[in-house]
Amino acid sequence: MTTPAKQVRVRYAPSPTGDFHVGGARTALFNYLFARHFNGKFILRIEDTDQSRYKPEAVGWLLNGLQYLGMDWDEGPEAGGEFGPYVQTERLEIYRRYRDQLLEQGRAYRCFCTPERLEAASKEQQRRGGNPGYDRLCRDLDTAESARRAAAGERHTVRFKMPIDGETVVYDAIRGEIRFPNSNLQDTVLMKSDGIPTYHLANVVDDRLMEISHVLRGDEWVSSLPLHARLYEAFGWTPPVMAHLPLILNPAGKGKMSKREDRAPDGRVLPVFVRTFEELGYLPEAMINYLALLGWSFDDKTEIMSREELIERFSLERVNAAPAVWNYDKLDHLNGYYIRQLSSDALAERLLPFVRRAGFAVELEYMLKAAPLLQERITRLSDAAKAGGFFFADELPPYDSAELIPQKGDAAMARRVLERARQTLTSVDFSREALEPALRGDAEALGVKTGQMFQPVRVAVCGKKAAPPLFETLETLGRETCLKRIDQAVAKL
Ligand code: GLU
Repeated sequence: MTTPAKQVRVRYAPSPTGDFHVGGARTALFNYLFARHFNGKFILRIEDTDQSRYKPEAVGWLLNGLQYLGMDWDEGPEAGGEFGPYVQTERLEIYRRYRDQLLEQGRAYRCFCTPERLEAASKEQQRRGGNPGYDRLCRDLDTAESARRAAAGERHTVRFKMPIDGETVVYDAIRGEIRFPNSNLQDTVLMKSDGIPTYHLANVVDDRLMEISHVLRGDEWVSSLPLHARLYEAFGWTPPVMAHLPLILNPAGKGKMSKREDRAPDGRVLPVFVRTFEELGYLPEAMINYLALLGWSFDDKTEIMSREELIERFSLERVNAAPAVWNYDKLDHLNGYYIRQLSSDALAERLLPFVRRAGFAVELEYMLKAAPLLQERITRLSDAAKAGGFFFADELPPYDSAELIPQKGDAAMARRVLERARQTLTSVDFSREALEPALRGDAEALGVKTGQMFQPVRVAVCGKKAAPPLFETLETLGRETCLKRIDQAVAKL
């Protein structure tokens, strides 16, 4: 992509109204990659002017989520910066100045209509076959009278004066030119009656004052583009480059991705919030890689890309306008891939908190042995507690004793195998190099197939047939546990 002339300054500007959704994380990521690609600045701005929807926990969820995903911001809450404050409710004086400027220029007007009148006006408009919305009653109020009523303390909002005829033509870096007939546009409220701006005024003023060069945001804001374009024009400012990222569809490809977490028919949670992905043990490497491919591609075939590669390759030109479909399987696949890429020590360290949280008192030293045996068998870090529960629990969960019976064998064979194995395991050197030939020798001595020998032993120590390689597993569990579990299995038979 051609390098922008100005320094790249982009922002992620969430409203703290709820949990940090992966759709928001995708928006943050595209801004982050774009900033890093051009050695620009990635700014975090909290757009909290809608106090009725404000959720105090939401800022924490956001900051934690960005930290988990490794998207460090250059300016914003906690980071500071010379364009602050970065929280909109701390900037109210600034917005009031710009409201006054628009009023003086006659580009905005005070609206004294009560909520009841607004509702009635909207209904009336619709009844006459028009669009719902405000009928612009106060637009032509005499300015002196308007000022007098305001000075007398009459409640009012401030609305933008949109052009009534013609079109507003905007340019989006991903979608190209978009034309809006002005007759469909409203005189939107810029400042509420409590002196708090709406998103539109605050957003435009801040993007200007924070010298934002490119706005990369969700596609739900396309419809606000004409208002924003007219606001920039009224202030006499050149707008930043605008780019609206593609919608994210639900896995069925029908309709927007859910804002809530549902459960799959098999009872599995279908996460949509960043902190749930973190809790389930999705690696940030996998999340970043996956989210980058939601609406962007490098070359239509490369799927696996590290953070450095994404930064190097990211470009707005290859962001798609068409919606992207969320795909849990693809994310799981990437997560499994990144789990297998970890060194066993790194995996052990990452698994430890998950297994402990599941209620097992495990030490790192033990985890260092178990982790490589689980590496191939888990998709998410939280799977380890289940897939490898037999490594961590003192007692195996109950299993069906029929599982102990080898193929083409019977309970008597299972018992013979286990008793022989018990004898061997009492004295053999407890390393996989010694265990394997010893148990193979047992099979031969008993005249059974190796499979018929190994299966009862595996089920006895793991409680299930599908388990990691047997000799490493025995070695990791250690002699005492193995003998105890074999005794329990024999008792079950
Ligand atoms: N506060 C808006 C949001 O939550 C920001 C939109 C924008 O980036 O302009 O999506």
